[in-house]
Amino acid sequence: MALNKITFNKPYLSGNETKYIEESVRSMKISGDGMFTKKCHAFFEVKYGFHKCLLTTSCTDALEMAAILIDIQAGDEVIMPSYTFVSTANAFVLRGAKIVFVDSLPDHPNMDVSKIEALITPKTKAIVPVHYGGVACDMDEIMSLAKTYNIFVIEDAAQAIDSFYKGKPLGGIGQLAAFSFHETKNIISGEGGMLVINDVQFAERAEIIREKGTNRSQFYRGEVDKYGWMDIGSSFLPSDIIAAFLFAQLENLDRIQEKRKQIWNLFYLKLVDTKNRGHFKFLEINETQTNNGHLFALIMNSIDDRTALIDFMRKEDVMPVFHYLSLHKSPYYQDKYEGGELENCDKFADTLLRLPFYHDLSIEDIEKITSLIIQFFDEK
Ligand SMILES: *Cc1c(COP(=O)(O)O)cnc(C)c1O
Repeated sequence: MALNKITFNKPYLSGNETKYIEESVRSMKISGDGMFTKKCHAFFEVKYGFHKCLLTTSCTDALEMAAILIDIQAGDEVIMPSYTFVSTANAFVLRGAKIVFVDSLPDHPNMDVSKIEALITPKTKAIVPVHYGGVACDMDEIMSLAKTYNIFVIEDAAQAIDSFYKGKPLGGIGQLAAFSFHETKNIISGEGGMLVINDVQFAERAEIIREKGTNRSQFYRGEVDKYGWMDIGSSFLPSDIIAAFLFAQLENLDRIQEKRKQIWNLFYLKLVDTKNRGHFKFLEINETQTNNGHLFALIMNSIDDRTALIDFMRKEDVMPVFHYLSLHKSPYYQDKYEGGELENCDKFADTLLRLPFYHDLSIEDIEKITSLIIQFFDEK
């Protein structure tokens, strides 16, 4: 590997990660729901006003818990975008749900809410908005549809930490929400996630499902004198060692977010002229949304442009990536999919390009990345 290679992602250590891990290890309480897990829960509940937070081993696990909590049964339908990570769908497919994919907006991968109502049937149990790049879906419209048809809203807020919709924190709007602390996200713990419970009716059962279907959490709090098998469940809680790492990151959340937004702004400034010449588009952010500096994407004019630009940059040791192949066309789901063409979703699958983006990206790195892009289009 060349020394000056600019990788797509690089995990950031904010300082106290190994110190807190050592504290956790020395405390000899390293299973789940120890001191650091409690600190992480309290952090989110206080900072964002979430009713109840439960760390999980991944966002995938948090989504699986959500599917159990809303009692997804075989044949239930769940509406979500097709342009998303597999876990959004898999969590519900595991419980027998049929996924009803809705197209993305023409200018953003987020779901096109104007197309949701036509997809609702008596079997629809939930809508799962994915806040792509940490940018909010049109939650007023989604919540109002959900209310009218009596269906649940589960936010896939994997990328949406510290981002807002009309002033409300993402992950705090649907009945349930799932966050990710995978090493490619803004705040990390290697693998890790969190279920947010905004609707109190789910709070008690969520604890049970997360603890192998037992009421061990109540037992630890001294509310019952022994614990037993109460419900279905699994082992969804992380070791306190993971929570120790995460808490070190959370203590630096504001600083990390500030830095990521600076990087985002620099990309914007350096590339806006080339964008204005029509070579690509940005994902624009409107006044109801905020930018949480999760990613910087270019929407290219064609898949050929994207492939050529990736090749050009890779030759110079810069590693942009593309992602999300339409789930409705995936090897696993294409035979099961009964809906129509999802033109915008397919367009993003073909043309979206993510630039290297991480906390320690230097001004020189950004200069190199953006100059290469400008050079590519000048030579074209
Ligand atoms: C990262 C991501 C997930 C999965 O998160 P894990 O913590 O790796 O399980 C799910 N949905 C979206 C939209 C993601 O970006």
